[in-house]
Amino acid sequence: MDYFYAPGRNHLFVPGPVNIPEPVIRAMNRNNEDYRSPAIPALTKTLLDDVKKIFKTTVGTPFIIPTTGTGAWESALTNTLSPGDRVISFLIGQFSLLWINQQQRLRFNVDVIESEWGHGANLEIMASKLEADASHTIKAVCIVHNETATGVTNNLATVRKILDHYKHPALLVVDAVSSICALDFRMDEWGIDVALTGSQKALSLPGGLGIVCASPKALEATKTAKSVRAFFDWNEYLKFYRLGTYWPYTPSVQLLYGLRATLDLIFQEGLDNVIARHGRLAKATRLAVEAWGLKNCAQKEEWYSDTVTSVLVPHYIDSTEIVSRAWKRYNLSLGLGLNKVAGKVFRIGHLGNLNELQLLGCLAGVEMILKDVGYPMRLGSGVAAASAFLQKNMPMIPARI
Ligand SMILES: *Cc1c(COP(=O)(O)O)cnc(C)c1O
Repeated sequence: MDYFYAPGRNHLFVPGPVNIPEPVIRAMNRNNEDYRSPAIPALTKTLLDDVKKIFKTTVGTPFIIPTTGTGAWESALTNTLSPGDRVISFLIGQFSLLWINQQQRLRFNVDVIESEWGHGANLEIMASKLEADASHTIKAVCIVHNETATGVTNNLATVRKILDHYKHPALLVVDAVSSICALDFRMDEWGIDVALTGSQKALSLPGGLGIVCASPKALEATKTAKSVRAFFDWNEYLKFYRLGTYWPYTPSVQLLYGLRATLDLIFQEGLDNVIARHGRLAKATRLAVEAWGLKNCAQKEEWYSDTVTSVLVPHYIDSTEIVSRAWKRYNLSLGLGLNKVAGKVFRIGHLGNLNELQLLGCLAGVEMILKDVGYPMRLGSGVAAASAFLQKNMPMIPARI
């Protein structure tokens, strides 16, 4: 077994799964319960009401499903579409690639719009396809809000504007797995028909919950959607919603208590403050990357992600070596480069329940590793740039404390 530096805490900086806050860990440390007792439906009701707030929807119907982001994808697609339906999907990184792959296996006719990795979704091509589609053969536009592999965020408000411009009725289906509770996200305002997330990203829970939210138009679409669905059938959930018992099958009650605790923390901090904190930590990370003389994988500022920064390394360094060293020598977990960018980037996840000093610890670790692998830079340069920014931009506290 390789040597592994184990004292203290592991610094978990992959872009999901992320650190779980202590109060949430404690809230989940409990015995099983009868989910048919009155307690679990009462708890579930508060959760369904409150997850609508993190999607910024009042008209949407949420489903909390024992699954992961991948299952949430399947739930969104099979409940609203039929095999053979034409859907537009953007290929910009590993997560959008996996989703497209699932769409193809579910037998949709996927019209793929590909961009170079590091670029955002090509909305001009989408616009031209919508314009040419007077007979409305396109049934859905599927888009990953935040591509976690390249650290690229797509502009959903613009997608909605383009759909409206052509008065196109396609459903807007959004993977918000690494954006809900981290980035500005407005389901109702942006006319999103299905949005989905997973528990192990910015919600800072263990993996195991997929949360899907459907607009009234998406619920209407289930009535005619012919995709085979069983476990993920929204109608099963709706039946139990009407009964007031909520669960068609066994939920993980521990995860439900965890979700309650994490939502409480988010509302205590204030959702907008949580999002601002993600903006602050991301900016500090980018300043450090710049100070090191390295480049962001995201090619334009408008695409920079506030949840994850994908850092391009010089050609003579293998980014896989950076990630493995980080773990073995510094007890720091960084994200690998995936697929097309394997070996070329490493990723710093700065999402979920995280603070400024934790981030600075990570950045200090990255500096030591960069030095280890022979990258010429000055130790402290990135930390100095990041801490100078953070010191000026910490949230306001009362003048006298
Ligand atoms: C993590 C992630 C997923 C996949 O979620 P799983 O929980 O691993 O199934 C999907 N999309 C995005 C954007 C992600 O970041």
